[in-house]
Amino acid sequence: MGEMLSGKNILVMGVRNKWSIAWGIAQAAYREGANLIFTYLGDREKEELEKLTAGMGTLHAHPCDVTSDEDIEKLFDWVKAEFGVIHGLVHAIAFAKSEDLRESFLNTSRDGFRLALDVSAYSFVAVCRHAAEIMTEGGSIITLTYRGSMKIVPGYNVMGVAKAALEASVRYAAYELGSRNIRVNSLSSGPIKTLSAKGIKNFNDVLKVVEERSPLRRNVTLEDLGNTAVYLLSDLSSGVTGEIIYVDSGYNNMGL
Ligand code: NAD
Repeated sequence: MGEMLSGKNILVMGVRNKWSIAWGIAQAAYREGANLIFTYLGDREKEELEKLTAGMGTLHAHPCDVTSDEDIEKLFDWVKAEFGVIHGLVHAIAFAKSEDLRESFLNTSRDGFRLALDVSAYSFVAVCRHAAEIMTEGGSIITLTYRGSMKIVPGYNVMGVAKAALEASVRYAAYELGSRNIRVNSLSSGPIKTLSAKGIKNFNDVLKVVEERSPLRRNVTLEDLGNTAVYLLSDLSSGVTGEIIYVDSGYNNMGL
């Protein structure tokens, strides 16, 4: 057990199951002594959380559907009442309709576009606003993004547009929250086989390309992501904000 996050209350949003990136981050944060607080979408996710955290002591968890302002308000009221202050927030939430990740990008419906941007980008702005109010001792906020925001990854479609909005939101939030000693960064993950990723067309091909061509010649693991998240959530990254940190075996550096 390390101590890099000891004494820090960290709110983790987005654990669905043992493959979730949020779960990889939660495990690394727990290893480093963090007090973890979780959110879950529905009853199924709550049951998963109960199973996953069975050996971690009392589970502190609250439901939150990020499409609901009321849910977000209730969540932060509860966190404030129970914990008073938080030092870290992990936003690992995204959603798009499956047809919008499989069909033509140009056929994205207005509703599909709105939903993807709402869940995957606006939710970040909303939770930053609330989290900042209870980060009275300074803090670190991280979110998860993917390179499909900047480059064409066939099939990533509207999610690429949502990630571009998310990355821009990280920079603007970093600017507004910097004077309160709250840092905001995104962690750009290489492909990881999670339930969300399964919705993306030809996802296995993406995994294969990274394994064959990235500088490290392998795909990243939940441990890789967890370790970088610990760095970003801890005081080790005290001068870092507004950044996109790639954890992708170096693949983003490749020209061919
Ligand atoms: P996941 O399916 O395990 O996690 C997605 C989470 O989003 C789930 O916990 C789900 O409950 C939650 N969610 C969806 N709609 C929600 C809503 N309305 N309200 C609250 N929560 C909601 O998949 P993951 O791959 O771990 O995704 C986590 C983050 O990592 C996402 O932002 C994703 O885009 C990003 N990411 C994933 C990869 C990858 O290859 N898996 C790569 C780069 C970035």
